[in-house]
Amino acid sequence: MAKLIFKYGQMNSSKTMNLLSTAHNFEEGGKTVLILTSSIDNRYGVGKVTSRIGIQRDTISVDESVRVYKLIEEIYPDYVLVDEVSFLKKVTIMELIKVVDELTIDVICYGLLKDFRGELFEGSYHLLAHADKIEEIKTTCHFCKKKATHILKFIEGKPTYTGEQIEVGGNDTYKSVCRQHYFEGGN
Ligand SMILES: [Zn+2]
Repeated sequence: MAKLIFKYGQMNSSKTMNLLSTAHNFEEGGKTVLILTSSIDNRYGVGKVTSRIGIQRDTISVDESVRVYKLIEEIYPDYVLVDEVSFLKKVTIMELIKVVDELTIDVICYGLLKDFRGELFEGSYHLLAHADKIEEIKTTCHFCKKKATHILKFIEGKPTYTGEQIEVGGNDTYKSVCRQHYFEGGN
């Protein structure tokens, strides 16, 4: 039985490192791996997955205009790994479900759960509803020793809870925090 797996974590929780080492392990075992990523994340250039420690490899960038079922069917890898899955739309998640159930290919997705407003991302929402297995990649609050469960956004050093859901940024703008520090704005 193929499975749809959702591994979620906050920012800086080594999601991409986890993806890259999973890909490496599968390939060491003689399996083929296809890596997809959301075309919205252009932090490091289109078509690459890069972890924050600099390891990089080629991927296919997708969005709702790409028929991922057809794409995966043509390549027919043993495993599909999806980076930045939160940014994908419902239509793409539904196609990934078909890949698991009809093509019997395991699909492992990595992404954030919620945005800085505390609301679920579209891709994450549908994965929570349909994944066979959900795993948390844990990280610690930027301000204390508790588990980080929220993302706090700072604009010019001030915590902010409103605005567009997706403005992809780096370390300066977003911090992974516990719920208490989220609502207290880091104080
Ligand atoms: Zn905290």
